[in-house]
Amino acid sequence: MIRVNRHFKKLQSSYLFYTIAKRVAAYQDANPAAKIIRLGIGDVTQPLPPACIDAFHNAIDEQGSPETFRGYGPSEGYAFLREVIAEKDFGYREANIDPDEVFISDGSKCDCGNFQELFATDIAVAIPDPVYPVYLDTNVMAGRTGIFKDGHYQGIVYLPCTADNRFLPSVPDQPVDLIYLCSPNNPTGTVMDKESLEQWVSFARNNQALILFDAAYVDFIREDSLPHSIFEIEGAHEVAVEFRSFSKMAGFTGTRCAYTVVPKACMAFDENGDPISVRDLWMRRQTTKFNGVSYPVQRSAEAAFSEDGRRQVRELTDYYLENAKIIRRAMTECGFKVVGGEHSPYIWINTGQDDWAFFDRLLQQASVVTTPGSGFGNNGSGFIRVSAFNSRENVIDAMARIAQL
Ligand code: PLP
Repeated sequence: MIRVNRHFKKLQSSYLFYTIAKRVAAYQDANPAAKIIRLGIGDVTQPLPPACIDAFHNAIDEQGSPETFRGYGPSEGYAFLREVIAEKDFGYREANIDPDEVFISDGSKCDCGNFQELFATDIAVAIPDPVYPVYLDTNVMAGRTGIFKDGHYQGIVYLPCTADNRFLPSVPDQPVDLIYLCSPNNPTGTVMDKESLEQWVSFARNNQALILFDAAYVDFIREDSLPHSIFEIEGAHEVAVEFRSFSKMAGFTGTRCAYTVVPKACMAFDENGDPISVRDLWMRRQTTKFNGVSYPVQRSAEAAFSEDGRRQVRELTDYYLENAKIIRRAMTECGFKVVGGEHSPYIWINTGQDDWAFFDRLLQQASVVTTPGSGFGNNGSGFIRVSAFNSRENVIDAMARIAQL
């Protein structure tokens, strides 16, 4: 008899955005004339930067000629892309990494979901609350938790992010082995400062723990003094892995390209306490389960680091940040307490009421889609996340409709 992975039965209902999509579809069916504005899911709306499009076209032409055609590429990605990332994305901030420590993939979602596979199932895992749900669900699937009770999975160490700690996770008062951090954060839009990252690196070093640092939104940081990479923190190379993505940086959500940095100095330990290179484990995993990102996509991603590409990426992220500013201002004027939206495309709004009820009200009365905060964890109850990924016109229209309510 084919039996299911029993841990899947512990997962909570359906995936957050699937539930939202169903409610929105039901509303649209009942109100076919309604012009719905989607500020819910974090999907970009603006096209790829022209530099990326040109490189994409050229690489496709290369695939059409026998002299330049390429078949399977390296699982970890082409050297041309890994080298430009090491130099342009890390070197300039002195967060030095080696091109051999970069792994190109088709998305940060799979990387931050898959990475836990490298580790034992009986390790202690710490996850911020609220946060991007993928970290928690993939650990549930792997069997690292007990059942879901009173809003929490047994066995997970939750790191509350509330107004009391400026929505920044604080180090726990118990040892843990695997730590997820996300900065700029999805959903709160807050950014970890140097001091708080230093505390985490020191905690990880003292506990022989590993930090999985998700920096999918790093290109929205506009303040130089805020860390852009965990590798700017001294000692982080031994205890951290960093995820980055072209999705939000350069509009690649539908094109798919991301990368994960696993320093050679980073170690995990076997049952005897002997160190094993996390980079080698990840290489072994990727070469077995992943056959690389397509050549044209990697060429297109490389172009995001050219002079034109960098300027265009900046224009793109500036565009969404201006939307975020408009949302922040409008929601503040409506009397809500808001955070985020300054170095992030997400604005986290305290609604002062049940978040699903507030979500329904905005959908039914303003035809505006947001994301209920409780979908990101218990501490998201009462909050909604508003995304700045939409056209200027739609953002202005959505804010006017909400103000009228
Ligand atoms: N990490 C965070 C925090 C995200 O919010 C997202 C997407 O919304 C991802 C990773 C996934 O990015 P990708 O499109 O590279 O899979």
